[in-house]
Amino acid sequence: MHKTPPSIDFLRLSQAFLPTLKENPAEAQIVSHRLMLRAGMIKQLSAGLYSWLPLGLRVMNKIANIIREEQAKTGAQEIMMPTIQPAELWQESGRYEDYGKEMLRVKDRGDRDLLYGPTAEEVVTSIFRDSIKSYKHLPQNLYQIHWKFRDEIRPRFGVMRGREFLMKDGYSFDYDAAQGKRAYQKIFVSYLRTFARLGLTAIPMQADTGPIGGDSSHEFIILADTGESQVFCDKTILSLNPLDGGIDYEKDLSAVIKNWTTPFAATEEKFDEAAFKKLPAENQLSARGIEVGHIFFFGDKYSKPMKAVVQDPTGNLVPVQSGSYGIGVSRLVGGMIEANHDDHGIIWHPSVSPYDVAVLNLKAGDEKLDAACEQLSQELLQAGLSIMLDDRDLRAGEKFAEHDLLGISFQIILGPKSLAAGMVEIKDRKTGKRDEVALPQAIEFLRNLRAAYLK
Ligand code: ATP
Ligand code: MG
Repeated sequence: MHKTPPSIDFLRLSQAFLPTLKENPAEAQIVSHRLMLRAGMIKQLSAGLYSWLPLGLRVMNKIANIIREEQAKTGAQEIMMPTIQPAELWQESGRYEDYGKEMLRVKDRGDRDLLYGPTAEEVVTSIFRDSIKSYKHLPQNLYQIHWKFRDEIRPRFGVMRGREFLMKDGYSFDYDAAQGKRAYQKIFVSYLRTFARLGLTAIPMQADTGPIGGDSSHEFIILADTGESQVFCDKTILSLNPLDGGIDYEKDLSAVIKNWTTPFAATEEKFDEAAFKKLPAENQLSARGIEVGHIFFFGDKYSKPMKAVVQDPTGNLVPVQSGSYGIGVSRLVGGMIEANHDDHGIIWHPSVSPYDVAVLNLKAGDEKLDAACEQLSQELLQAGLSIMLDDRDLRAGEKFAEHDLLGISFQIILGPKSLAAGMVEIKDRKTGKRDEVALPQAIEFLRNLRAAYLK
């Protein structure tokens, strides 16, 4: 029997670092936090600080890569800026004092004031102003996926409100407000598509601009009972699908935006009760929500004080028009669990499942069965799928319970009896449906099952 070697797409559970918990951890108040701890995805280091363990990190990386793919389609480019920033930049923009206690301030050995970035408008504006001098090199849109620190008063709910958390933060630069609004619209649409690819229904809602400032802002909210925001919307918005019909970012996006912004949708801060009450009663939805993204258009708020100017077509120097665009990448891991779980555990959407499929060997040590599992794993790898092989010597019942907890989207179950008959069982974690399939057809069957979720 040829043993499948470990690789980025193949994990052998008998040798894996997977510290699962049998009991519910007492400190976890919400289901996503409980399940992330129980499934060995994260480990708390201190209040609001978490280490990401192998399984958790895989999910977070998959989310990040979907974000990258959708950002690239808009023309945005990825960069990475330091997490530590000099105070002077924030004094230039005028935000150093305003930001208050959420900002972690430190001094270096030369007594210079530094901070751990809670966001990066200042840094990216300083990069931009030193590099781009003419409108001819606009538009530009730069983003990073990197750690932020905010010394939250009440870090809680695990990674949902951490102090250090992973954010995708993007920044657009245009030479007039009309172009700037277009950049905002592109990102608006790309966010809808990103969340939809994760299997989430994210509702754009008018929002306050807060300390980032500016005059146009939307929050993207997913509905969940444990959400920290109270939100109100017209139920008809839930039937829109942003992936319908593809998207051409070169075209005018106003009509698409209108579809999404016409139905009533607002957070508590922007709630207009009279307007909401005018909706037919059956369409009024008042619910809790989790903010997974937030976009702002703020014009020259930073470019003006920081002198990020370009030559316009007539030769005048004008401050650029900017927006900033955030997604809570680490928060999304928890948010996806809030949206998709049952009494047994997590249910990963196939787009981010830590492995595409779990192969369960129900009698590890049985030579024929072991060989069949190795061979199936290798064929799955060749078909471009990633595999977690459960080759541990555990009772079948224990394996079933643990895999339902981990939430890998699909399980292929092999036992000695079914193998003798040339059959395997394929379980869809979401529906719970189990199908008996002839071994040679297993990969094709799995492919079809999976493809239906990834349309
Ligand atoms: P919140 O209202 O939840 O405090 P925010 O409005 O301060 O968030 P933004 O500045 O809009 O946050 O940051 C962009 C995104 O980063 C948010 O939409 C959210 O998904 C995520 N985020 C913000 N704060 C945290 C945090 N403490 N832990 C995890 N994710 C966060
Ligand atoms: Mg926000």
